[in-house]
Amino acid sequence: MDTLQTSATADFAAPYGLLIDGKIVVSNDTFDVLNPANNEVLAKAPDASPDQLNAAVAAAKRAFPAWAALSWKQREAFLVKLYEALEAQKEEFITLLSLEQGKPRHSQADFEVNLANPWIPKTVKSRLDVEVIEDTDEHRVEVRRTPLGVVGAIIPWNYPYLHVLWKSVPALITGNTVVLKPSPYTPLCALKIGEIAARILPAGVFNIVTGGNDLGKLLTEHPDVGMITFTGSTATGRRIMASGAGTVKRITLELGGNDPAILLPDADWKSIVPNVFWTAFGNSGQWCIAAKRIYAHRSFHDEFVKAFAEYASQQKVGDGMDPTSVLGPVNNRMQFNKLVDMFADVKANGYKIAVGGDIDPNSKGNFVPVTVVDNPPENSRIVQEEPFGPIVPIIAYDSVEEVIAKANDTPFGLGATIWGRDREQAQAVASRIDAGNVWVNEGQNHPINAPFGGHKQSGLSVEHGGEGLASHTNSKTVMIHK
Ligand code: NAD
Repeated sequence: MDTLQTSATADFAAPYGLLIDGKIVVSNDTFDVLNPANNEVLAKAPDASPDQLNAAVAAAKRAFPAWAALSWKQREAFLVKLYEALEAQKEEFITLLSLEQGKPRHSQADFEVNLANPWIPKTVKSRLDVEVIEDTDEHRVEVRRTPLGVVGAIIPWNYPYLHVLWKSVPALITGNTVVLKPSPYTPLCALKIGEIAARILPAGVFNIVTGGNDLGKLLTEHPDVGMITFTGSTATGRRIMASGAGTVKRITLELGGNDPAILLPDADWKSIVPNVFWTAFGNSGQWCIAAKRIYAHRSFHDEFVKAFAEYASQQKVGDGMDPTSVLGPVNNRMQFNKLVDMFADVKANGYKIAVGGDIDPNSKGNFVPVTVVDNPPENSRIVQEEPFGPIVPIIAYDSVEEVIAKANDTPFGLGATIWGRDREQAQAVASRIDAGNVWVNEGQNHPINAPFGGHKQSGLSVEHGGEGLASHTNSKTVMIHK
């Protein structure tokens, strides 16, 4: 394998290379990464071969015993150094993120990088202490946590910077080594993070391979990988469960959702229009925990739709590098075409559109107008499916019992937001929603030390918090006769 030049910082002008065994390496093949604002080639990314994937897993396996043998504090010191180096180049990362993902540089790309970096020191500060179950004069029983080995991390294209750290840092601090595979639509930030990590972490501890879905499949089947941590679609999650079964892998899945936003009868609906809007349309709706069905009580539904549509019509969709854009294009043509199909369904069924609605299938960039569908039927595709784009239905309901039943009538259970003046009543409704993350009078404000995961087909296991850290370990009960 050829070795590229690298330095203590990432060189944003240099070609992109894989991170294998502490070295930045080229690959014989490359694939194009497109700028979603114009679908022109932004960069060429290395298309890792199966041999390179195997080399990455072998390096991670070799590095595991020494990394696991370090104390938590020693691993913490390495990861804090990584944090400092990422902070030093965060402006370059924000630009690259905007270019490869499409999100506005000055707002949402800036937000993503500034949210994700501080998670490193916060995460590594936590501890998984030994739990003492019994300690008498005769007998001691304790539960220790031991790392699993090589963790394969597979991530999507909606938060391509944040997910690198979200997946890798908990796995690394608990003593595992990592092979990360980003989405082929957004591999660039991950590869530049890899350039930095190459100079900070011991060889083989952190590896990054980029390529298509087949590479992900090889990782999930690999006998030397002990755990797969995956974020992406429910369909892929099912495949990963199946391919991990052969070697009984530990599996964490963060999958799709169809999150309801419930505006209770006493909601201060006028004042919450911007909050509810951004809960639904942040990152152009390409957010697993975006509000995807807004239920407004019939007493104010029509007025709310009007105010919401007016606010929505003021938000500019455009190139993420244009400082006047507040919403960027959707990330890729595959997702754009799914939205073209969803918009066609809304039109074909004659549902009322409060704002937007006209998507240009031939648009050079993947631009989708902010669209609000007014009171479509409960069984419509726009209510039942996850569009993963800037379109949301606002549905009228009559009773709280009815809206709770509708909110829960879905195979998903990722998130929900409840809005109401009476906090106690809002919390009582929250307690009856079958979802992993429920917010009351706020949207998506999630601290990194709290567990995050989905109920039903939105996921398996959790990430972050004590439970999330523990999910990267084996439980080992030690019984000692005194
Ligand atoms: P995807 O499932 O198509 O791809 C995600 C990743 O899996 C990519 O890296 C892809 O290359 C890889 N992959 C695809 N097929 C694979 C296979 N058979 N084996 C192993 N790896 C494979 O999802 P996407 O289109 O990138 O992302 C959009 C979806 O992700 C949406 O449904 C969204 O709700 C979900 N999502 C969920 C969360 C969450 O935390 N719950 C966060 C972001 C996105």
